[in-house]
Amino acid sequence: MTDILSQDIMYLPGVGPHRKDLLDSQLHIKTWGDLLGYYPYKYVDRTKFYRIAEFQSPMLFDNVASAGSLPFVQIKGRILSFDTYSDPGQKRRVVAHFSDGSGVVDLVWFHGLRYVTQTYKIGQEYVVFGRPTIFQQRWQFAHPDMEKVGETNVTEMGMQPYYMTTEKMKDRGMTSRSLEKMTKALVTRIPQGAIPETLLPEQLSRLHLIGREEALRKIHYPQSMDDVQRAQMRLKFEELFYVQLNILRYTSERRKKYQGYVFKRIGPLFNDFYRDNLPFELTGAQKRVMHEIRADLCSGRQMNRLLQGDVGSGKTLVALMAMLIALDNGFQACIMAPTEILAEQHLATIREFLKDMPVRVELLTGIVKGKRRREVLGGLLDGSVNILVGTHAIIEDTVQFHRLGLAVVDEQHRFGVAQRAKLWSKSDNPPHILVMTATPIPRTLAMTLYGDLDVSVINELPPGRKPIVTIHKYDNQMTSLYQGIRQQIHQGRQVYVVFPLIEESEKMDLKNLEDGFKALCDVFPEFSLSKVHGRMKPAEKEAEMQKFLKGETQILVATTVIEVGVNVPNASVMVILDAQRFGLSQLHQLRGRVGRGAKQSYCILVTNYKLSEETRKRIDIMCDTNDGFRIAEADLKLRGPGDLEGTQQSGIAFDLKIADIARDGQLVQLSRDEAQKIIDGDPECNLPANALLWNHLRELRKTNVNWAEIS
Ligand code: ADP
Ligand code: MG
Repeated sequence: MTDILSQDIMYLPGVGPHRKDLLDSQLHIKTWGDLLGYYPYKYVDRTKFYRIAEFQSPMLFDNVASAGSLPFVQIKGRILSFDTYSDPGQKRRVVAHFSDGSGVVDLVWFHGLRYVTQTYKIGQEYVVFGRPTIFQQRWQFAHPDMEKVGETNVTEMGMQPYYMTTEKMKDRGMTSRSLEKMTKALVTRIPQGAIPETLLPEQLSRLHLIGREEALRKIHYPQSMDDVQRAQMRLKFEELFYVQLNILRYTSERRKKYQGYVFKRIGPLFNDFYRDNLPFELTGAQKRVMHEIRADLCSGRQMNRLLQGDVGSGKTLVALMAMLIALDNGFQACIMAPTEILAEQHLATIREFLKDMPVRVELLTGIVKGKRRREVLGGLLDGSVNILVGTHAIIEDTVQFHRLGLAVVDEQHRFGVAQRAKLWSKSDNPPHILVMTATPIPRTLAMTLYGDLDVSVINELPPGRKPIVTIHKYDNQMTSLYQGIRQQIHQGRQVYVVFPLIEESEKMDLKNLEDGFKALCDVFPEFSLSKVHGRMKPAEKEAEMQKFLKGETQILVATTVIEVGVNVPNASVMVILDAQRFGLSQLHQLRGRVGRGAKQSYCILVTNYKLSEETRKRIDIMCDTNDGFRIAEADLKLRGPGDLEGTQQSGIAFDLKIADIARDGQLVQLSRDEAQKIIDGDPECNLPANALLWNHLRELRKTNVNWAEIS
């Protein structure tokens, strides 16, 4: 029965070889089923006709039921007469005076004038659809959608769906309207019962969802807004439910396959460190999170935990203590950072924390080569290296451990299931894994992107930190800004100045930075300045960073290479130039470089005058709060999850076509609960009653490229 859905799209009336190619190349639509799965992005209510007389009523625009907020309306009437205007200095245009008996409006065209006068006839009845505006005190519709009454049965148009099309499609005459006709033809040609159901009947009735067949028909061919909502609800739920079912099933498969090392012992390293080397008291949040991690490490199950905490909340310390527990139990541990600078900084921090303790900590990055590299690799194999700090170099195949018990992944952005799986293969039994991120991830997003991880949150900063004061300045206020910087430096502080990457060309970015650097050197002849950017050799970069760290330079001019992890407590001012070019989470990350010492810190966001509404919101949020979670929520709302963090990159979620993690948070939760219920009731995933679900999940895994790569 499913055969009909795999029929070639060409076997649909109105689709010839030309359109077939276009559909395939532009939208990847090859079959009837593909077209059925190409959902409209909005709908416009065409069940109601307005009377021109009603246009005066302010109520009108509140009542227009469209999925977007555009006040499109539909009227029915006749053309009274045409006028062509070609006044000098004005655009040539054709105007049709159109009446429905209650009033007159102007229909206006600025191009295709001949087509208009030849096609539309005076006296003929038309349905006109468009967005009325007032021009010289008359209502007008510019380039309206025109339909001859009797041609299509307009009263049956119901809700009109709108489909995304590409420029190329438009050039070749394929519009949303063409797709609408195709999907309507398709829906009427697919026989009842040909669309298989993917949820259990019991779920449908319990969750008040409509069937798949009905949903797919209604999503393309709704009669009312209610139809649209019910269809969307059903299809969104289905998508999210299968993502969650996949995650939970994957997690349970993994748990069955692997045992976790049991770290029973606490001490002597952990205890010595806690008693002698820890220079301060742990925060309440750090203690709580340590308990959660401890419980994992003793549970006999492999830990896969995401540790979230704002920059500076003390995650590294928590990770270090977890590593000491591994060492106490005769295992090795490693910590992986995204950049060389960060890895080196971790190395320094950890060595400092473990001063005078019998722990060998080594570094492995791309620049550790030759004899040094052989020594480190040898020490890993014979077990004499206890803690390895490094970059992605750690997951290379040549790196073998004697007995790796815990792997910490710091500041992971692009670290998905596949990479984690690679870490597991480092020992006969996979090590415990602790993933740390300073980019707070809203709950619903975390549930989807990192749904296979347990989550711990450090929601408290170490005591004594003063909240960073964030100020917005326009780029014509630089003089006062320089004055402020000078004052801070005279008080012994240090300053970051960040230039954005413009990304048009690396060369230009570099020039931008060089020019900016020179300009700043001229402004501050009395200070020493450092400069760091992504194109420098690691050693050079390191040398410049060290100068700043040691206080030999007072100002560090940089691109975003300093975004993560850099720790210079004496730096108290972060100036971000062209701040409008940065996303919220990036701004927040950058700001986190200051506020690490006891002194009051400042973040100055410099922008030009022309700010889009979205940029203004971003800047306002930054000035308003230091709370990373609030910022992440706002970011998700402003940008949507799409470019926040590709779902593909996590490797755990299937692509979402209709559900929106930002907007459909409640459905994410519902689908998680529902998937949990199914797994709990069927831990072996083999109950005949659920066969439908497991079969469909298998199909999805097969067709999802990312997933296929992992399993
Ligand atoms: P994160 O990795 O979460 O950004 P770090 O672990 O780098 O944060 O901690 C930031 C700074 O705060 C470090 O200098 C660290 O030594 C210090 N720190 C960590 N925990 C505490 C604490 N409980 N009390 C005081 N200072 C702390
Ligand atoms: Mg850190």
